[in-house]
Amino acid sequence: MRSRRRFGQHFLEPGWIDKVVAAIAPRPGDRFLEIGPGSGALTLALAPRVSELVAVEIDRELAAGLRPRLPAHVRLIEGDILELPADALLPGGLAPRTLRVAGNLPYYISSPILFRLLALARDTGVIADATVMLQLEVAERLVAGPGSRTYGVLSIQAALDARARLLLRLPPGAFRPRPEVWSAVVRLEFVPALPPPVDRGEFDGLVRTLFAQRRKTVNNALKPLARARGLDERRLLGEASIDGSRRPETLELQELKRLADIVATADRSSVV
Ligand code: SAM
Repeated sequence: MRSRRRFGQHFLEPGWIDKVVAAIAPRPGDRFLEIGPGSGALTLALAPRVSELVAVEIDRELAAGLRPRLPAHVRLIEGDILELPADALLPGGLAPRTLRVAGNLPYYISSPILFRLLALARDTGVIADATVMLQLEVAERLVAGPGSRTYGVLSIQAALDARARLLLRLPPGAFRPRPEVWSAVVRLEFVPALPPPVDRGEFDGLVRTLFAQRRKTVNNALKPLARARGLDERRLLGEASIDGSRRPETLELQELKRLADIVATADRSSVV
């Protein structure tokens, strides 16, 4: 089969389809959104097990080849998963937390797709979970906790909106053509761990700033952001009950949220 590198096409080998579908765990009555059906390896295995499936494929030729092979309850949309508006991706009349997402993702845009899914789940409340194939390295960052070498922006942003679990590891030989790296299937269950931050933009910005300097102490990593707003990093950390001599990579989700909320409210009151 022809593969377009620019679309990140690595097709799942037939011997692995059942294992990946078992990880997705479709149930009768489920409604699914599939990202990147390609030539249908997962689509055709999922279709008989679910009640509705919408699949989004960017490659016109693959879409044209797959369309005539699909049963009536599968709808194929030709387009870019990052560009299509939410109402084109989500079937109408969805009850809260009922849509499930699956896909063997194109690795060149796996992080933007994950961020889009997190935002869609947060903004619409209709997505229950997403079971996706990723590069193993990205999967490990996604599921990492405090203190781990791979804990960072992706782990924290995901943890705020979802529980992430690594379900299956696959060698390069599970795909054709073979990717250069190992892969993994991860399940994201969209259940918020905490009440939302006072200001999501502030939370994201603070996490990015701290983790860009993960080897520094929290005191030093926070200083430029605090001073730029006329705030004192030691006071902020004291209010958040965080020892400033710790490293950013040891901070728990709850501590990061507490700190971001304090920065957001302190910032607002100092502007007034
Ligand atoms: N599901 C198939 C399988 O497992 O064999 C193909 C998986 S392949 C890794 C990724 C698929 O995503 C390709 O079919 C590719 O054309 C499609 N794709 C790439 N970029 C996309 C985008 N922005 N929006 C939708 N589909 C995309």
